Amino acid sequence: MCRLTILVDMDGVLGDFVTSFLSAYHKAGGMGEPSRPIQWTFIDELDPIAVDEAWRDPGLWLHEHPYPGAFAGLRALHERHSVYVVTDPGPHPMIAIPAKLRWLGTHAPWFPQRRLWPISDRSKIMADILVDDRAENVREWLSGPTNNGRIAGGLSAYLPSREWNHDAPRIHGLPTGLAVVVDGELDTIARMILKDETVPV
Ligand SMILES: [Mg+2]
Repeated sequence: MCRLTILVDMDGVLGDFVTSFLSAYHKAGGMGEPSRPIQWTFIDELDPIAVDEAWRDPGLWLHEHPYPGAFAGLRALHERHSVYVVTDPGPHPMIAIPAKLRWLGTHAPWFPQRRLWPISDRSKIMADILVDDRAENVREWLSGPTNNGRIAGGLSAYLPSREWNHDAPRIHGLPTGLAVVVDGELDTIARMILKDETVPV
């Protein structure tokens, strides 16, 4: 069996960042809701003062609800391959990173904390597979200097279907042979990846 290097995004793949962010935003006195369907740029529509306070709230991550099947999928992949959790540290990394580590430790105590990579630019990371909710991240990673045209284990990028990405291949021109939007969570994606192991890397 080939051991693949797999990157799993945290916010939007493992946990419901949007709901958690809106909760922290309203707790900070922010008014209103973003328009639907929500796009990943939804924060730009909100009151910037309450937005900044929400970013400074460790509860933003500590209270993030895992998507169903997310940690079962992470565990299945981690048991067979080299898995790293990647995450954008946001505007206040000194607050965000310890909170993200605690959140990961709470929901996945079996996952090595040194495998959390706080990095926003996916194009700088070499790996075989990326699981990310944001089509822009996938496109950036696929076109990065280390991954351009690379195909490993079948598909290279998987996006769990979200409001902001379900039309991703059509809208963003993601290469259909390399990236796929999956109508399911990380457990479904993990099954697809583990099934693809028969494809030579
Ligand atoms: Mg994300």
